[in-house]
Parts: sequence; structure tokens; C-alpha cells
Amino acid sequence: MRLALFGPPGAGKGTQASRLVDRYDLTHISTGNLLRAAVRARTPLGREAAPYLDAGRLVPSDLVRRLAEEAIAAHEFDDFILDGYPRTVEQADWLASFLERHEAPLDAVLCLHVPYHAIVERLSKRRVHEPTGAVYHLDFNPPPPSVDPATLIQRSDDRPEAIAKRLEVYARETQPVQAFYRARGLSKDIVGVGRVREVAARLDGVVIRIAQRRRAAVAAPLPEAS
Ligand code: ADP
Ligand code: AMP
Repeated sequence: MRLALFGPPGAGKGTQASRLVDRYDLTHISTGNLLRAAVRARTPLGREAAPYLDAGRLVPSDLVRRLAEEAIAAHEFDDFILDGYPRTVEQADWLASFLERHEAPLDAVLCLHVPYHAIVERLSKRRVHEPTGAVYHLDFNPPPPSVDPATLIQRSDDRPEAIAKRLEVYARETQPVQAFYRARGLSKDIVGVGRVREVAARLDGVVIRIAQRRRAAVAAPLPEAS
């Protein structure tokens, strides 16, 4: 399956992606994670991207495109779930032609809907377990007692000023991507409020149907044009 998770920062994309990856044997391609890894490794791309990440602004599209392209190609154009990509209509357009060229169009874009106040609450208490990258929330999804609190970090873009900037950028540049996918019949709307496992169950309901449709298409291919 080729899926993308879409929604505002803090909607729960990373949290749900890590579950979907295990359940459906997919690779998680998060451009945010790839960018943060490049920043930590101090690669030239990471050095260029770092100020944008810190400020909560979008990293220039050509840099992110390179990461997305490499990751999708490395996973042979199938069995992946994109998270945080595409984030502009221009990126969505590029992705559609890139995947089309490789005869590997997206099966669906799963859009998580979470209201503004809940997003701010989620982002301000998000903590990342540095050794594993696991994502927690101090109240809603607390780390187990085995996790040493000293290993939990707060992302630099989860500070109040950066959160405000990211939500403004989302409304202006990213939200229109949903209309792009809706017009192509690919967008699936999912309520992102409630417990993590409740959202996961809603996603499962949608993803199971997509998987069944894929299996049916493989079992009964369209007749070749004569
Ligand atoms: P995104 O990848 O969309 O930015 P995350 O998956 O990192 O979002 O989730 C943002 C924060 O919200 C994290 O602290 C996470 O633990 C928490 N979270 C995720 N899903 C839920 C949920 N259903 N209810 C409450 N908190 C959640
Ligand atoms: P995320 O982990 O998805 O919240 O992304 C963190 C940050 O990485 C964003 O605020 C942007 O600065 C950058 N980023 C991630 N994906 C993209 C993208 N598709 N286009 C531009 N910038 C991105």
C-alpha cells in the first residue's frame, strides 16, 4: 500500500504512523524525522534546513524533495506511509508526477482532523525519547516508568512561538493540499480526537478497506486493451 497521513502539526500523524507500520508492514517516511536526522548529523542539507525547523517555517521544497525522493525510491515505490509530506500544493503536484512516472500512485491520503485548541495542548506537552525517537505526551500518552525522564527532550519547534508559526504556516500553505487530494478522490477524513487507540481503530477501519481493494485489484487485473 502507498499511503500518506495528512493533518496539522500535533494531529497525531507520527503516533498513528508507528502503529500502522507494525500492523500493515509499511515503512514510515517522515520528512520531519529525516530533516532532524540530517540536522543532528550536520550534513550540508541539515545545516541549511536547521534555521527553518527551529523557526517553525517550511524548509525549501527542493531540499525536502530530495529526501522524499530518496526514501521512496529506497523502498521500491511501495509499502510506505508518508508523514509530513507533501506540505504544499506544489509538493503534492511534484509527488503525483514522480509516483506516476514510476507507476506507483498513492492509494489514499488519510486526513486527521483535530481542533486548534487540542493541537496546542498536544504540542506543548509532547516529549521525544531521544534514544529511540518514541513520542509521548506528558498527560495523554505518558512514558512508561522504565523511561528515564532525563532522556526525554522537548523539540525546539514545540516552544510557544514556533508552535504559533507552524500553525499559521499550516493554515496558509498546507491546508490547501487537502482540497488537492479531495478533487482526486484520494482523501479519507478521520476524526483525530479521542484516545490514541480510538483514533487507531478509526484508521484501521479505513486502511483495511484500502488493503482489501488492493488485493481484489491484484486478483482480478483489468483486461489488456487489444
Ligand atoms: P504529529 O506527528 O502529527 O505532529 P504526534 O504524533 O507527534 O503528532 O502527536 C503530537 C502529540 O500529541 C504527542 O505528544 C502525542 O503523544 C500526542 N497525541 C497523539 N495522539 C493523541 C491522541 N489521540 N490524544 C491525545 N494526545 C495524542
Ligand atoms: P514534522 O516533524 O512533520 O512536524 O516537521 C517538522 C519541521 O520539518 C516542519 O516544521 C518543517 O520545518 C520541516 N518539514 C517537514 N516536512 C516538510 C515538508 N514537506 N516541506 C517543508 N518543510 C518540512
